[in-house]
Amino acid sequence: MNYSVRQGDTVAKVANAFQIRPFDLVLFNPRLTSEHEYIQPGMILHIPNTQNPQQKLDLFDHRLEFGPNELDEMIPTFKKLGVRVEVIGFSVMKKPIYALSIGRGKKEIFYSGGWHANEWHTSKFLTKFVYELATAYESQNDWYGYNIVEVLEKIKLFVVPLVNPDGVELVQQGIYSNHPYYDEVVRINKGETRFEHWSSNIRGVDLNHQWPAGWEIEAKESPQTPWSRHYSGTEPLTEPEVKAVYRLSKRLAFAHVVAFHSQGQVIYWGYRGLEPECSKQMVERLALVSSYLPVHTADSDGGYKDWFIQETGRPGFTVEVGIGTNPLPNKAFAEIWSNNVLLALEGLVI
Ligand SMILES: [Zn+2]
Repeated sequence: MNYSVRQGDTVAKVANAFQIRPFDLVLFNPRLTSEHEYIQPGMILHIPNTQNPQQKLDLFDHRLEFGPNELDEMIPTFKKLGVRVEVIGFSVMKKPIYALSIGRGKKEIFYSGGWHANEWHTSKFLTKFVYELATAYESQNDWYGYNIVEVLEKIKLFVVPLVNPDGVELVQQGIYSNHPYYDEVVRINKGETRFEHWSSNIRGVDLNHQWPAGWEIEAKESPQTPWSRHYSGTEPLTEPEVKAVYRLSKRLAFAHVVAFHSQGQVIYWGYRGLEPECSKQMVERLALVSSYLPVHTADSDGGYKDWFIQETGRPGFTVEVGIGTNPLPNKAFAEIWSNNVLLALEGLVI
């Protein structure tokens, strides 16, 4: 049979949907030269018949990429589990930006991920974390020694797992000729059509360089035109993805925030000495349950955590999961999950 590639597909995702091996998909489609080749919407793939279908992989399996389609797929499950789902805005390409929330307490806590396109493991991590947390809550089970019912009576956790859906799709699928930003993206990328290094949104603005906290300083030292990373934009808060998180952060009174990125296995906890004293003890607790190293600052400005600390005087953290060149290989998810699940739990009780 034939299959017409959809937006957001990858070789691994299509193979999994038809319960075949990515390897077989490549074998049956001579125009594919490797399992990592981009496949474009509308491209027709031959799906081989197989007598021995592979077992369908879990959405969070370490062999699969996780992007906007996979998050969409989880939404009905979240609703069934009693997780509140809110669309807080739309990306440049009009993809919904979801905020999930769980818990009934007064203290509001905020986790976010998928800021940088090639750091989509953080979106996968946060989506799985909310799913497991909601499952433990529903069944009233402890989870790694944490009494989830008790924890969620005291707090309300908000999670935006994927701030940059357009960018993540670009990294996983590449650009295709009828994409409305085709010319712009290829121009920014100087004619290259691989995007593993891309961390900006689809307009070439770095969503973690957009925050009004030392923005001018950061902008002056960064690329001056749209770029695959580090371009701060013409002024703070120009991008719809950033505006969505900004509105949410202004509307609610987060006691503390944790922004997940994926470079270095460290936890940044300060910003120009504006952080409160308790930040230090809090980061020490997060470090103990993750094995990651606390680092005061990255000596940079314009990030979400920086803005949150400056704006509220409350604790803000950037957790850099994983180590290596982004995007980390799919299998890096094992390390990310195992080193961060207790950190994310501890973050609810510090
Ligand atoms: Zn990042």
